[in-house]
Amino acid sequence: MTIKKPIQFRAVHTKTRWRRASHESVANALGNKRGARALFDHLNKAIDYSKHGEPLYVLIWDERLPGSGEIVKPDHSRWDGLQHAPVSDQEINRFESGAAASDEDLDLFFARANPSLAKARLREVSDGPATSLRELPTPETEAQLEEQLQAKIQDSRGITADARRQRLLVASSSPVRIEVRTTAFIRNADVIVEVLERAAGHCEECRRPAPFVRASDGTPYLEVHHIVPLSKGGNDLVENAQAICPNCHRRKHYAQSDQTI
Ligand SMILES: [Zn+2]
Ligand SMILES: [Zn+2]
Repeated sequence: MTIKKPIQFRAVHTKTRWRRASHESVANALGNKRGARALFDHLNKAIDYSKHGEPLYVLIWDERLPGSGEIVKPDHSRWDGLQHAPVSDQEINRFESGAAASDEDLDLFFARANPSLAKARLREVSDGPATSLRELPTPETEAQLEEQLQAKIQDSRGITADARRQRLLVASSSPVRIEVRTTAFIRNADVIVEVLERAAGHCEECRRPAPFVRASDGTPYLEVHHIVPLSKGGNDLVENAQAICPNCHRRKHYAQSDQTI
């Protein structure tokens, strides 16, 4: 006869909604070796996260003790990294017998346990991105798409890590797919080849060898950049082009100055 582990453990992931396990003690069930903290922090190497999805909540109870149920979720502002709320035996039985445990249902336990905190949290979540960002129109061009993303990144930098994580908990994991217009130039292939030949496998900016060879044809990977951009009226000529490595290329387009960090 095997000795049963009395502490019941149910993990609610984004994909697997009710994963069953059991532990010898509450400390093990919550702990950072194989318990809830290890699960939330991706420290338990036995868990297949791609199969089960991100862990959101853990319910635990001692089957010898009625009324011992609780639900926890990650909260790095707490001493133990977890937020706790009680769960009744009836609720546990309901979930155990197959009732769906939605994120909203499970979050209600925390709301009931701490009404003021829950209110603050709900306000943060429903606020979402800054008002000006919530009403952004669907981008029509690639440039608008990039501009909106950059504005949202600035917004995300401007909130606390806690607020950001709360937002992540309720965010959709499947991005909306849209079509956008792009403007492009039909470039002269002879200019590209001529400039690549001139560079002979070395970046014309930092002089280092190309970082790798292309899988398609085995030639050194360099990017042909226009010194005066085509979009600003530059000419598609060998004299206005240079073959440079990806780092130098990105630096030319995005760096504050030519300084390296
Ligand atoms: Zn370079
Ligand atoms: Zn360029």
